[in-house]
Amino acid sequence: MTDKPLHPRTRAVHHGIRRSQYGEMAEALFMTQGFAYDSAEQAEARFIKSGPDEFIYARYGNPTSRMFEDRIANLEGAEDAFATASGMAAVNGALMSFAKPGDHIVSAKALFGSCLYVLDVLARFGVEISYVDGTDLEQWRAAIRPGTKAVFFESMSNPTLEIVDIAAVSELAHAVGALVIVDNVFTTPVYSRAIEQGADVVVYSATKHIDGSGRCLGGLICGSRHFVREVAEPYLKHTGGAISPFNAWMMLNGIGTMELRVHAQTATALKFATAIESDPKLGKVIYPGLASHPQYDLVQRQMGGAGGTMIAVDVGSKEAAFAAMNRMEIFQISNNLGDAKSIVTHPATTTHQRLSAEVQAGLGITPGLLRLSIGLEDADDLIGDFCHARG
Ligand SMILES: *Cc1c(COP(=O)(O)O)cnc(C)c1O
Repeated sequence: MTDKPLHPRTRAVHHGIRRSQYGEMAEALFMTQGFAYDSAEQAEARFIKSGPDEFIYARYGNPTSRMFEDRIANLEGAEDAFATASGMAAVNGALMSFAKPGDHIVSAKALFGSCLYVLDVLARFGVEISYVDGTDLEQWRAAIRPGTKAVFFESMSNPTLEIVDIAAVSELAHAVGALVIVDNVFTTPVYSRAIEQGADVVVYSATKHIDGSGRCLGGLICGSRHFVREVAEPYLKHTGGAISPFNAWMMLNGIGTMELRVHAQTATALKFATAIESDPKLGKVIYPGLASHPQYDLVQRQMGGAGGTMIAVDVGSKEAAFAAMNRMEIFQISNNLGDAKSIVTHPATTTHQRLSAEVQAGLGITPGLLRLSIGLEDADDLIGDFCHARG
């Protein structure tokens, strides 16, 4: 391909293609676990050091998975990426691959339930975890200390859509040499400038907006070549966290339409949030693209003003939340997000059920909170569905 700087949408369909001898147009699916060697000497040499187009075993790497890794790393502005079996394999791999007993990690407390679980596992193995309110820089400043090994946070938290200031937290972390690991799922790769803003490692659940149609699990660890290949890859390839080539192939296909989808879903989310906010009887809306969001200024700086595809609405009580969910016809009751189909979730009883009532309250996960993932449907149909459900 040309050396000219190309826009993301162009790179999203062309970057990283590895063509076989057949010159296929579409990315090939190399559905193979192993790779045959020409000779015993070649096998030996490849186990000592394999080149970029030399593969050993799909748990270590595969040409289709490598295309997916190269393409997303390019879009993210990262040197490299490792594709994992799920978003949680990426979170687990990013943290477990370097942490050892006695290390200190500072984390935002508003996290996806499974991310909190991984931090609990680390704590079990002697890693000290300090939790802070991710939106409060003073708490980050107080918790980060000389010797802190890493900081971890979701740049937009699940499900209360709080934004963490990537640049400011990175500055505090880098002052003591700590690694900045950002779970950027809710921001989506389309609005992410996390690496440029200071993050060292960006993790994604590709299950969400990258697949975009709710079909496959997958994840990514993006970062420096050193971190991805020397730190994360050895851990992941020996513990079985690699993506299936089939899923990587589905994801490659998803990336091509990701920008179009996410822009359309974000425009619909803004229209939807604006409409619901205009009638206070419908509920209390949290959406980063609305001026009423407490961190609206940060959303402008960090995400170019885009509020993303997720909305939270507090309808007052669990009874009201369940009643509304059961009356919805277009919004599907499910717990995925980033799908082409709009989804409604009740975090308190599903995704965050494991947390005690006090912890839920501390995170703003109220009994009446609904999490909405806006899909590709018509905005007016979605607004109509929500108003009908609350009517
Ligand atoms: C979904 C999600 C994950 C986990 O991804 P899986 O692909 O389901 O394993 C991690 N972090 C956030 C913020 C998520 O929304």
